[in-house]
Amino acid sequence: MDKDEFRQFGYKFVDWVADYMSDIAKYNVLSQVKPGEIRDQLPIQPPVQGEPLERIFEDFQKIIMPGITHWQHPSWFAYFPANNSPPSILAELLTAGIGAQCMVWQTSPAAAELEEVVLDWLRQMLGLPGEMVGVIQDTASTATLVALLTARERATNFEANQKGARMPLAVYASEETHSSIEKGTKIAGFGKENLRYIASDEAFAMLPSKLEEAVIQDKKRGLKPACVVATLGTTSSTAIDPLLPIGKICHRHSIWLHVDAAFAGTAAILPEKKEMLEGAEHIDSFVFNPHKWMFTNFDCSAYFVKDPGALIQTFEIHPEYLKTGLDAKVKNFRDWGIPLGRRFRALKLWFVIRYYGVEGLQKMVREHIRLGQLFKEWIENDENFELMAPANLSLVCFRLNDGRKEEDLNSLNEQFLESLNQTGKVFLSHTDLRGKYVLRMAIGARMTEEHHVKEAWELIQKKSEQLLK
Ligand SMILES: *Cc1c(COP(=O)(O)O)cnc(C)c1O
Repeated sequence: MDKDEFRQFGYKFVDWVADYMSDIAKYNVLSQVKPGEIRDQLPIQPPVQGEPLERIFEDFQKIIMPGITHWQHPSWFAYFPANNSPPSILAELLTAGIGAQCMVWQTSPAAAELEEVVLDWLRQMLGLPGEMVGVIQDTASTATLVALLTARERATNFEANQKGARMPLAVYASEETHSSIEKGTKIAGFGKENLRYIASDEAFAMLPSKLEEAVIQDKKRGLKPACVVATLGTTSSTAIDPLLPIGKICHRHSIWLHVDAAFAGTAAILPEKKEMLEGAEHIDSFVFNPHKWMFTNFDCSAYFVKDPGALIQTFEIHPEYLKTGLDAKVKNFRDWGIPLGRRFRALKLWFVIRYYGVEGLQKMVREHIRLGQLFKEWIENDENFELMAPANLSLVCFRLNDGRKEEDLNSLNEQFLESLNQTGKVFLSHTDLRGKYVLRMAIGARMTEEHHVKEAWELIQKKSEQLLK
């Protein structure tokens, strides 16, 4: 492709993205295609000869776009958001253009040093302790695996010093914890049978007393408690585990404390939400996703550790072909996580934080929380609906409840959610809270405004009336 063709299509694609963003509300939020429908339109074999870009782009619009679910849609209320933003998209273009692979300092000093600086900006924005140091991981799942591996390394090193037989290690998380903790526990070799799910209170937050009981019991049985994962903002209901008492238990028993704040971490940039970090001095590692609520294209997870030495000890490698004369003076982020190769992710984060500023980001997040609280009030004031968990942030868990028998409510709500999503006008997802089928209204897409939430509410009311008739 020559420079002129690249330029021509570059402009065209930027125009297309700009139009997509302004027209996005016209699409059905959830793709309506059937399984296999996209695949059937694609040739089985790869093209032998090159094809003109024009034709590829046409097929992108004709074949690919109908199979896209529109995460940036203002009526996106499912799961949690995965926000992008114009400054982030443009920075991704530059990243792709540069095409740098940033495994060590020398392979792009700017990438390593920008990452260091931008992650410290984030640390300050959230109010994490000054000694914590940040690194970007691809996802929260990976960051949690990294934490579990580091905790395992620390616990086994400790073991080695004690001599004697190796004790099995145990991991603790609330029963509401994200599935990535179980996955990480399996991958890191703790074994699923050594993961303890700790009971939660009526607000779905971990009960510290139950945690300590489990720790003491395991110690008695000859296990070594290695890691506690506390969640700030659980995936089902944004429950906030109480960090301070959990941190004290970890401190008392020398257990690694990892905090999973994948979605809710962003809210800590608000002074009025900082209290969830009370006890932060006990945190060993912390993850949150700028790719969820901080308007930075997927993927970008911010991971912070108190003792980078423990992290590096776990992941450091020294093959001859990767040695440089500067290794003692610089940060080589290949030693701060699992993959060797690294994308230049700090650039988009830098663009986003500079473009919006801390105040701009606070304003957007605060508005989502306001909208969440508004929706919560509508639910509370309508007798056909029931609020199912405290709405700590911008997620509202609710269900339809017309007073019928408890055992019939789950299928009613399943049917109800289906009828909402079938319209294509909104997309909500569901969860299970103590055996109850619950709808999740997760507000946090960048372009969601009050009228979108209102329209969703009107649709919810209309569909519920049809269903209950
Ligand atoms: C979304 C979420 C995750 C997983 O995030 P990924 O970046 O997709 O791995 C983990 N924990 C919690 C609490 C989440 O909400």
